[in-house]
Amino acid sequence: MTGSTAPAARGSRPGSQATPPAPAGALSGAAGPAQPSPPRAAGPAQLPPERLAHLIAELQGHGLRVEVEMERRRGGAGPADAGMLWIDGHPATVPTSARYARSSPYVLRAEDDGWAIYRDGERLAPAEPMRRPRFYDLATDDGIPYWKIALLHLDSLASTVIQTCAYWGNSDQCAFCGIGVTLANGRTIAKKTPRMLAEVAVAARDLDGAVDVTLTTGSTATPDKGALYVAACGQAVREASGLPVEVQFEPPGDLAVIDRVREMGIDSVGIHVESFDPRVLARVAPAKARTGIEGYFRAWERAVAAFGRGRVSTYVILGMGEDPDVTVEGCRRAIDMGVYPFIVPLRPTAGSLMAQVDPPSPGYMESVYRKVAPYLAAHGLGGQGASAGCARCQACSAIRLLESAEGGDGGGPRTFLPLAGPGR
Ligand code: SF4
Repeated sequence: MTGSTAPAARGSRPGSQATPPAPAGALSGAAGPAQPSPPRAAGPAQLPPERLAHLIAELQGHGLRVEVEMERRRGGAGPADAGMLWIDGHPATVPTSARYARSSPYVLRAEDDGWAIYRDGERLAPAEPMRRPRFYDLATDDGIPYWKIALLHLDSLASTVIQTCAYWGNSDQCAFCGIGVTLANGRTIAKKTPRMLAEVAVAARDLDGAVDVTLTTGSTATPDKGALYVAACGQAVREASGLPVEVQFEPPGDLAVIDRVREMGIDSVGIHVESFDPRVLARVAPAKARTGIEGYFRAWERAVAAFGRGRVSTYVILGMGEDPDVTVEGCRRAIDMGVYPFIVPLRPTAGSLMAQVDPPSPGYMESVYRKVAPYLAAHGLGGQGASAGCARCQACSAIRLLESAEGGDGGGPRTFLPLAGPGR
């Protein structure tokens, strides 16, 4: 599995439709020519981890006003809607397009030599918005722009391989999800093939320094819930690019499917319970509630046996009315098993059923982070050990910075895998 079979050059061409629309709210004329995101080094942070964690929790709760051009994600599976930037060298996704972000006290402002985040005129931290990846200018032989196939989330390539879901548009739709939004507004295609994704992954690696790939899928009305198709995509990506791959899917009916996913060379899996509070799960994700919290634990047990501790993760979304004690207890039980609970705030996504809900307060987020982070550190299960996926990226949560403050295995810098420069 090397990058030597790279199909990037095959059929890659500048696409006439290859420029995504400028994000709303971006200042016209501020962008200049498209530039790749600069490769990142794991340099020492300037702010202490606790202060940076607090700032990121604040930004993820209040949103960020932007006075510069930056890459953003709209819609998508699971919790979505974010601008992407590096804050004091740490990756972060923060709401920039949401209604509440427009009144945020925080603003991203250009300086003479860079950018910084300000509040009430006070400069809080240096920051650097993600710039438009170079691979977005390419298209497949049949004219599909690469950016409709996969997006770069800072240094992680991400795609929803099947952009439809058996639950979307009916009574089973997950209330926080925006998977159908992106498809409806023409920003993606309904189904990406393994070959397409492999082609884009190699380009993202070579042109923009992508270091891992995260593939998710809408659930299918098949017993495997789409796990085998997303894994086949991941296998193709891995074989073409050599990048570590995480795939994400619902617990399949037959747990032996998880073993098959591992046999296909996938590095890690995300199996997302979303909430440990059964009352909340029943209200916001009825189909997942039918699997039940115990159904997730059974799937995780099988996944940890196949992939190993720390290579199985679950999203835990806060701000949906959950009982925090039940939530913390569920996280600790998952950690005992070797599952990384990736705790994130609700991102009320335009077009989702929770579009009008307010995100949780930063103080609430921090209170839960502070109960779970020490437990992660004590069990040696920090995001530091993850090779791919959301647990490695960490941009959607501030928890890893608090793991760092606890001195667990997250105590070192974030896992920055070897970067590939142009021409690799
Ligand atoms: S299972 Fe729920 S979160 Fe996942 S794609 Fe379907 S509706 Fe969205």
